[in-house]
Order: sequence, then structure tokens, then C-alpha cells
Amino acid sequence: MNKLFSNNEVSRGSAVVVGASLSGLMAAIALAEEGMQVTLLEKVGKGHRSGAGLQVDAAGWNATGTERLLRNLASGGKRSIQLWSSIESRLRREAEATSKINLRYDTRVKEVGQDGEAAWVVTDQNETIRGDLVIGADGHHSLVRRFVAPDNAEAKFAGYMVWIASTNEGELPKLLRPGQKHPEVTMLGSDSGFLFGSIIDAGEGVVNRRIGCTWYDNSRNELLRNLGCVKGDVVQHSLNGQDIPVETIDELIMHVTARWEEPWKSAMLHALHNRTLTGTPIKEYVPNRLVRGRIALIGDAAHVPAPITASGFNASLEDAVELGKCVSKGIQGESAEKVLVQYEKARLGSVRRMVQSGKMYSTSFGLSGE
Ligand SMILES: Cc1cc2nc3c(=O)[nH]c(=O)nc-3n(C[C@H](O)[C@H](O)[C@H](O)COP(=O)(O)OP(=O)(O)OC[C@H]3O[C@@H](n4cnc5c(N)ncnc54)[C@H](O)[C@@H]3O)c2cc1C
Repeated sequence: MNKLFSNNEVSRGSAVVVGASLSGLMAAIALAEEGMQVTLLEKVGKGHRSGAGLQVDAAGWNATGTERLLRNLASGGKRSIQLWSSIESRLRREAEATSKINLRYDTRVKEVGQDGEAAWVVTDQNETIRGDLVIGADGHHSLVRRFVAPDNAEAKFAGYMVWIASTNEGELPKLLRPGQKHPEVTMLGSDSGFLFGSIIDAGEGVVNRRIGCTWYDNSRNELLRNLGCVKGDVVQHSLNGQDIPVETIDELIMHVTARWEEPWKSAMLHALHNRTLTGTPIKEYVPNRLVRGRIALIGDAAHVPAPITASGFNASLEDAVELGKCVSKGIQGESAEKVLVQYEKARLGSVRRMVQSGKMYSTSFGLSGE
């Protein structure tokens, strides 16, 4: 629950957070927990996004107040694979219910800057919003990162991709639906990649679970380049189901039909026939810095590990918790910059190690597909 602040309490400062996906929502909640006034800006509209199933660690016995709050919101109170959209809606509900957070959708940040007294963003409506801090939670292709680390601004293509599909189990014939005791995660290998099959809790009040297929594929790099998803070594965008060429859909159907086991086979075939899958080129980013003056990075803007590490989200949560801990000491005047130096000191080493651990894997699996 949020801490209560009386009307005559001294100001705890203000922050602008760029990006209202999982990291941005967690950063805003953590900063508001410390009494800061937060403006949270998201370029797309509410409810326009979706994502993979994420393994979320529940709060341990030694978790602090903010960590406990964030882990409980993210995990729904249990250690399991959660649908990205379930995590996002719980975090968003919390942010919307917090009076210190002003959450604005359809607002793209096009510029960031700072001077000795404040940091600011300029939006696509040419509005300048100032704060004591600006936090970049704007993902792997971060604009804020270009300001913080201009010499190391872009995440790099890792040489492979992932097909992600999540099918409602109600779409499968009853006989093929997994039993209640079916393992939550299954891994299947094959010559050009491997599959993580998962059974995902679809969230409160939803009867059917979802059958998640996360298929890593290193045989499509030419396709990604031909379609403009990857240019040079930089990922430009994902591949929507509707945009996958017919011959590729046919090849994928043949592969899945011949080699996959149930229920993943039927779930993926359903997604292929209905084009409800997405192809995401994998990228990685090893940071050299997380902070410049009053501006800091969090989440995928700060570090992009290969998904095989299954640690991007949990690291983002730890970033938010650490940021809250650092600002709790106060950010008046020059201390704003000192607080962010503390944040970088606490996080940089461990997030660099996290990304590097996945890079070893990408070097063997990813580059072998080029
Ligand atoms: C296939 C896959 C599987 C994964 N599995 C796991 C797992 O099992 N466990 C785990 O811990 N992690 C996993 N991850 C990683 C995890 O999903 C991310 O690390 C996590 O969701 C954090 O994302 P984010 O909020 O930092 O960035 P994003 O989700 O990319 O959000 C960035 C937000 O910023 C907005 N934005 C961008 N630019 C601007 C702008 N200029 N102005 C305003 N808004 C802007 C975007 O619209 C977006 O909403 C996985 C990732 C992938 C791809």
C-alpha cells in the first residue's frame, strides 16, 4: 500500500518517467512510494500492447516494502509464469490508483535535456515537462539512452529470433488440453532452434489457461533482413503475424506438424493459421553507464539480456527497487545527481554480468544461423 503523506510535508521532488510498460510502471510506483510526484509518459495508447509469458519470482521473506509491493503485483502473489498482459494490468491499476502518478498515454517523448537545476523532456505536442529527475524506461531502442550513452546507444542484433504465440486452451480439442498436473514449462530441441512450451495462468477470473509457445529460431536471418526487421546489426521492429510471407507460414506449419508434440503443436498451428504469432529479432545491450547527471536508465533501456537468461524483467524490478532506495535519501539540489551515481554503482556491475551471461549463448546459437 502507498505510504501516506500529509499536506504540509516538505516536497520529495518530482520525476518524469519515459515509457509506461513494465519497467516504467514499476519505476513510477517505486518513486511515488518515496513521496515523489511522477509524470509517466507512454507513446502508444492504453491497451495496445502484449507480450510473452514471464517467469516472475515472488517476494522473499527479506524483501523490503517496495520490493514486496512490486513482486506481489507482478506475480499475483505466487511464483509462476505470468502473462505479460496480466502483469501490466496489475501494475497499471496500481499506478492509476496512486495520486502521485500522472499517467499519460499517446504522448511520445522526442527530446530530453538537463541543466544544473532540472531535467526535462519535450513531447510530440511540443510540451516541455520538467522534473528533478528523468528516468528512461523506453525499452531496447531507447531515445533516453542516446542522451545518456551516445557512444554506446544501440542494442545489437544477436543473430536469431523468437516466434511467440499464446493460444487460449479453449481453442484446442478437449482431448489435447493439458491436464492440471502437466508441467508448467517444457523444452523441446530441434535442428534449427528450440521451443519453450509454457502453460500460463491467464489471470483473475479467466477460466481457460493459455498455451504459450516461445520458439527460438536461427534460420530466418535473411528473411528478417529482407523485410527490414534488422538493418546492419540494429533491430528495427518485430514481425507481425499478418506480415509474415505465405511461404514462411507454410514452412513453419510443415516443421511444427512434423516435429512438435501436443499440446504445443496444436497451439502453434492455431496461431499460424490465424496469424496470431509474432516474430521478434533478439537483441542484446551491455551498458557502460546507466546515468548522466539527473537522467537515468532502467529496464530494457538500461540492459537487454537474451531472453534465454529469463532475467530481463526481474532485473528491471530490481532497478526500480534500487532507484526507490536511492531517492529515499532525498534529492534536493545537487543531491539528485549524487543519488543517481549511487543507483549506477549499485546496479551496473550486476546487469553487465547478466547480459554477458546470455551473450555466450548467442555467440554459439545466433551466429551459427548467419
Ligand atoms: C521473448 C521474450 C521472453 C522474455 N522472457 C523473460 C522471462 O522469462 N523473464 C524475465 O525476467 N524477462 C523476460 N524477458 C524480458 C522482459 O520482457 C523485459 O525485460 C521487461 O518486460 C522490461 O521491459 P521494459 O518495460 O524495460 O521495456 P518495453 O516493454 O520495451 O517498454 C518500453 C516502453 O516505452 C515506450 N516508449 C518507447 N519510446 C518512447 C518514447 N520516445 N516516448 C514515450 N514512450 C516510449 C514503448 O512504447 C514501451 O511501452 C523476455 C523478453 C522477450 C523478448
